[in-house]
Amino acid sequence: METKCNCAIRASKELVTNLHRDGLDRGCIATFSDFLTIRQSFTSDENLLHQSLNSLRNVASGDTCLYDSISGVIDRTFRRNAYPSRPWVLIVVTDGDDNLSSMSSRQCSREIYDKFTKEDNNFMFVVGVGDRVNASKMQEMARAGYFDYIPVDDFLLLELAFLNIAYKVTKSLSLSLNNLAIGDISATWAEVQQHRQLSNVAIDYALLVDVSSSMNDMLRPQCFAGHDLRMVNGEYRENLWFCDVCGKDGPSSKTSEFHCSSCNFDACPSHCEPGRQCKPISRCLEDHPMRYVNIPGTWICDEDKKPYIGRHLRCEQCDYDMCPTCLTLITLMENLALVGR
Ligand SMILES: [Zn+2]
Ligand SMILES: [Zn+2]
Ligand SMILES: [Zn+2]
Ligand SMILES: [Zn+2]
Repeated sequence: METKCNCAIRASKELVTNLHRDGLDRGCIATFSDFLTIRQSFTSDENLLHQSLNSLRNVASGDTCLYDSISGVIDRTFRRNAYPSRPWVLIVVTDGDDNLSSMSSRQCSREIYDKFTKEDNNFMFVVGVGDRVNASKMQEMARAGYFDYIPVDDFLLLELAFLNIAYKVTKSLSLSLNNLAIGDISATWAEVQQHRQLSNVAIDYALLVDVSSSMNDMLRPQCFAGHDLRMVNGEYRENLWFCDVCGKDGPSSKTSEFHCSSCNFDACPSHCEPGRQCKPISRCLEDHPMRYVNIPGTWICDEDKKPYIGRHLRCEQCDYDMCPTCLTLITLMENLALVGR
């Protein structure tokens, strides 16, 4: 299995490969945990950037000094070494909440605005990965600091976030008006490259990547809400478990290999892929993933309005229950619709 850090490195390399024009644009690689480290100062040499990213494989340790590090990278790299005539682009990746900075989130936002985003030509993005990032605080900071906050559920989506960032940056810099629509999510790396080749604006950009100890975590499978699924032992469980995805009984032990304690969710190994959310068997009318539940007494199927007893699929949010017969019918019709396409 892959670590979060290695996944972040892979996505970063993809970004550099497609955004960077060798000998023209200048990139900088920085990391943060207990403190900020400038790994590679601004260089137009693409190979040096890749080497610097490769060297991050085994460095993750320590806490999350996010705010001080953002301020540091703006002061120590951009304001000291970047070309004032060029657009500046700062991309930050974090998987957690700041727990070490001397400055507050408010002070950090103010510095970001005063020293960086106040210039129309500058762009800053923070990508928050996973459920340990305080999304509402980051959104508030983004508003105050005039930067973009991009939350993604898991590390496998980081490359997609980078692609959207690169696309937004290249769109804004490209002088030729093309037929690509803003917000077009079907953008590809090939399009980003094409835009960069057409543009005559060179950029100075920096990647600031979280290398706190949690970045050593392996990519875990996730519940429907995007929480990591972890092993839970019999001694912590009262009952044998059943799978929330397919409704089958777990093996006859209290140990569940893939458990979410926030949602009290368990899944068989067959639904679990590293870094991915389990795929639900079916969804309610509002498109929420449905879970198997064991409600005592009778319940009414919301499709055929008949009463039933026992374990079945349910959407708690919509108070929507579905019997096995209706599930079979609906699944069959969905499959037919797919074939007919
Ligand atoms: Zn299952
Ligand atoms: Zn959960
Ligand atoms: Zn629902
Ligand atoms: Zn039914």
